[in-house]
Amino acid sequence: MDLKTPVLELIRKASSDLPPDVEQSLKLAQAGEEKNTPAWNVFSTILENVQMARKQSTPICQDTGSLVFYIDYPEGGLEREYKKAVSAAVVEATNLQYLRPNAVDPVTAKNSGNNLGVNAPYFHFNQWDKKDIRIRLMLKGGGSENVSTQYKLPHSSLGAGRDLIGVRKLVIDAVRNAQGLGCAPGVIGVGIGGTRDISYTLAKEQLFRKIGQRSESGELAQLEIKLYEDLNKLGIGPMGFGGKTTALEVFIGSQHRHPATFYVSISYMCWAFRRKTLHIINGEVSYDD
Ligand code: SF4
Repeated sequence: MDLKTPVLELIRKASSDLPPDVEQSLKLAQAGEEKNTPAWNVFSTILENVQMARKQSTPICQDTGSLVFYIDYPEGGLEREYKKAVSAAVVEATNLQYLRPNAVDPVTAKNSGNNLGVNAPYFHFNQWDKKDIRIRLMLKGGGSENVSTQYKLPHSSLGAGRDLIGVRKLVIDAVRNAQGLGCAPGVIGVGIGGTRDISYTLAKEQLFRKIGQRSESGELAQLEIKLYEDLNKLGIGPMGFGGKTTALEVFIGSQHRHPATFYVSISYMCWAFRRKTLHIINGEVSYDD
């Protein structure tokens, strides 16, 4: 089947159509701020921009981010065929200005001009038992990636030990250090455990959850709620202008770790929380957030 066309539409939607759960949480955040304060005004600008982008099919933010695809495919599928079709869609999406050219060779400093390059876009492949195809796309802004970070426990200067109380201290430290950079209010994805690289991967994948979707682990769900409250007491506010909303949501995942390591990774997502999913079921194409 033709995969390029539905993937091109996936990219257009991801770039221009903020998921409704995120938009709703931005509206609720604005309602919680004093009218006509800098925080309230920042939300007005953001929400106006979100509506205009959707109406005109233009990017929500001038930085259309790094493209990260998560592809679940059935038995018999070939990864190279998916890569070929998705790459062709990425080139066309760049030509149509759904995407800004964001792939720079770090050695030559040359921008490829079409969003293709080494590990650009980045693909996570997973062959599953289903006959369906699911392609999830995240557009990850550079500013928010810059304030994403990783720690290891124990952490003596923060007084953080190897437990969930320690994790809580690290997440608060990361958001405090960001000071609104990375375009607060952020959605905070946390990955606990694993090796350094897999810890980051877990943190980023948490960002496919919808606002309000709690962890299935009771302990982690409790920590998500506590951290959401902690972060919104920091007073950093949208874009660092001060206010009651520094974080829109906290999502935490955990995985087994080596006895000698305890990594905690934080994937910071800006308010332009762009994620979309393409489903192909019995040849029928549909999208969700
Ligand atoms: S961090 Fe997000 S909102 Fe800020 S400039 Fe980058 S993509 Fe845009």
